[in-house]
Amino acid sequence: MNSLKRIPVLAANWKMYKTVGETREFLHVFLPMVDKLSEREVIIAPPFTALSAASEILKESELVTLAAQNMYFEQKGGFTGEISSIMLKELGIKWVILGHSERRHIFGEKNSLIALKVKSALENDLLPILCIGEKLEEREGGLMHEILERQLSAGFSEVSSAEADKVVVAYEPVWAIGTGRTATPDQAQDAHIHIRSWLTGLFDSDIAGQIRILYGGSVKPENINELMALPDVDGALVGGASLKPESFSQIVSCRTS
Ligand code: PEP
Repeated sequence: MNSLKRIPVLAANWKMYKTVGETREFLHVFLPMVDKLSEREVIIAPPFTALSAASEILKESELVTLAAQNMYFEQKGGFTGEISSIMLKELGIKWVILGHSERRHIFGEKNSLIALKVKSALENDLLPILCIGEKLEEREGGLMHEILERQLSAGFSEVSSAEADKVVVAYEPVWAIGTGRTATPDQAQDAHIHIRSWLTGLFDSDIAGQIRILYGGSVKPENINELMALPDVDGALVGGASLKPESFSQIVSCRTS
């Protein structure tokens, strides 16, 4: 499979942390720490309220771009509390995280809704970071592959071959998110291989070889290099350890080849 073209992605998911002021403070410390880095994409997903301020600060950055943590699939209408792709585009946002396990399991988002969001993001020129992952009881019950396939099948249901490489997949085992328990290298590589071979079946090996698959779940400076050394891990989606400039800068400075 062609892995040469897969540029590593290091993405921060700030969840419901950081005010506008805290976002500005973070970026002013973080950007000088990473300004010599190349050959990777760095993404930060602050809360919606801080996107505008972050976008202003990052407009000159060649390394760091912004993601929203969610969006609705309609462009406008009576959808109280929701945010649309055109609102995100107006702020210069490039990416959108969709199907995060907290959206699935706290807010009840179903695969069918996530499928509509992926479709809408691509139609409106936003790049989806599609999160998938099994719960502990699903893994222990031998259902991991089936759960991942169901989530992939919905997420890619409206994605054509021509736009497939615009989607980044984030494999985030639910039992590893915010728990301090990281998947072992074998567990991560096994899941990533399974995802890539499923994508090969849906598209072909050239296209599947171009789709970036990130690992997420208690990534920290101490384990990033071991994860990045795995052949099918193309980056990381980081929650807790992305909240401090010192730790996130160490993560984005990981070895990339
Ligand atoms: C996440 O929120 O996507 C995540 C992986 O969190 P953490 O790194 O804290 O486990």
